[in-house]
Amino acid sequence: MADLVPTELIDELRLAVGVDHVLVGDDLCAGFSRDWTGRFIGRAAAVVRPGSTAEVATVLKACHDASVAVVPQGGNTGLVGGSVPLNGEVVLSLTRLANIEPVDRAAGQVTVGAGVTLSALQRHATAAAMAFGVDLGARDSATVGGMIATNAGGLRFLRYGGMREQVVGLEAVLADGTVLSHMGGLAKDNTGYHWPSLLCGSEGTLAVVTQARLKLVPAHTEQALALLAFDSVATAVDAVRHVRERAQNLSAAELFLGDGLELVCTQLQIARPFSTTHAAYVVVECTALSDPIDELAGAVADLHGVMDVAVADRGRFDLLWSYRDRHAEAINLLGPPHKLDVTLPAGRLVEFIETIGQVVSSVDPSARTWLFGHVADGNIHVNITGPAPHDEATDEAVLQVVAALGGSISAEHGIGTAKKHWLHLNRSDAEIAMFRSLKHALDPTDILNPNVLLPS
Ligand SMILES: Cc1cc2nc3c(=O)[nH]c(=O)nc-3n(C[C@H](O)[C@H](O)[C@H](O)COP(=O)(O)OP(=O)(O)OC[C@H]3O[C@@H](n4cnc5c(N)ncnc54)[C@H](O)[C@@H]3O)c2cc1C
Repeated sequence: MADLVPTELIDELRLAVGVDHVLVGDDLCAGFSRDWTGRFIGRAAAVVRPGSTAEVATVLKACHDASVAVVPQGGNTGLVGGSVPLNGEVVLSLTRLANIEPVDRAAGQVTVGAGVTLSALQRHATAAAMAFGVDLGARDSATVGGMIATNAGGLRFLRYGGMREQVVGLEAVLADGTVLSHMGGLAKDNTGYHWPSLLCGSEGTLAVVTQARLKLVPAHTEQALALLAFDSVATAVDAVRHVRERAQNLSAAELFLGDGLELVCTQLQIARPFSTTHAAYVVVECTALSDPIDELAGAVADLHGVMDVAVADRGRFDLLWSYRDRHAEAINLLGPPHKLDVTLPAGRLVEFIETIGQVVSSVDPSARTWLFGHVADGNIHVNITGPAPHDEATDEAVLQVVAALGGSISAEHGIGTAKKHWLHLNRSDAEIAMFRSLKHALDPTDILNPNVLLPS
């Protein structure tokens, strides 16, 4: 694939980042050319691994001058095919930007490189008796840069918001190599356009994130966790509303269904939590400075429709979480899934969960639908197994239903390659035209992640 780009460019990239950090050839580039699900597989002209912002700037300028497209990549855990070189692009892997500065305790902030993984950031914050507000299952690989580029939400969104809410400063490089830096971290700062917010969710199309200054939250050392089983989706969703009203320290409320739990337990050989299977399950978690078990117990007492309860004591938190956290892994074992991550308005959520499986089956009788997600945010992950990777008939059916119900076709994973044909379901022509103007202003030659977000 190196022949897709001029040899002079490869030489220039080697000069910029060092020979060892330019990978060429299918064998070396394979791991960077396929997404986490295996649904999106491409080929890279080369993989370039810069070790500093200055090197990122030199690489981008060289690619810009040679009109060669670049796909920024962090941990490659994105679920919409946005980090994969589909048409022989250069992959710009940011994982070497792994610097972590000491926690600024006075400000409650920390500055980290774009390539720092979420778990490294979490460990660093914990060592300073603080915490980072966003958490997600891919924490060991997902990077700060990728999480900003996708505006990741995750398990604690209901308490702390998503990545946009945590970013208080940003450094990024434009397509032509210009470095932008606004890292002051001031809480109040109305000095014109807030471009760091614009880059949150921009999916690598506007600039490459190299460093971020992030807000930290108090470390809640005490945790209480319960797994509740319900006789129906409606009672589970209703219960979450009640728990939210009653538990001030609620930090997560995650839904999954009976067939999903069965799949996790069978595929991953985990012991079942209860002797019988139920229609729906919710994991609820409270975290606080003092033990929130009484608060959680009070919040779940007298809930309607509860069939079974498991409360985690120390040492069992991970097991109870794993029933929800390991859904994606278990589903992947069935073959590359179609992943549709959607939000529904509160009043339409139950109807959606109860009917969408039939909608999928009516389009493709061999397809299976798996539903789970961040129910307190109205965010459901619709996973479909069975259809071939390029068969988008069931995707289309689901996203049309979501839009008709007033929902969003992407809650937190982004649009990527997977959903760009359906952006119009949520965005007007005028909005899409404005997106294109922004893209053109910042990346006039369209070299930054050209396959994602905007419809062809
Ligand atoms: C098991 C599992 C659980 C998950 N759970 C959640 C969840 O709860 N919530 C959630 O929101 N997501 C979740 N995800 C999706 C994924 O982890 C997130 O989208 C994450 O933010 C991606 O980070 P990454 O570093 O892997 O980015 P990548 O996958 O490498 O890239 C994602 C996008 O960001 C761009 N990008 C990457 N780095 C940069 C950079 N430095 N500058 C500019 N653009 C860049 C890429 O071009 C691409 O478009 C999950 C994924 C898995 C596999």
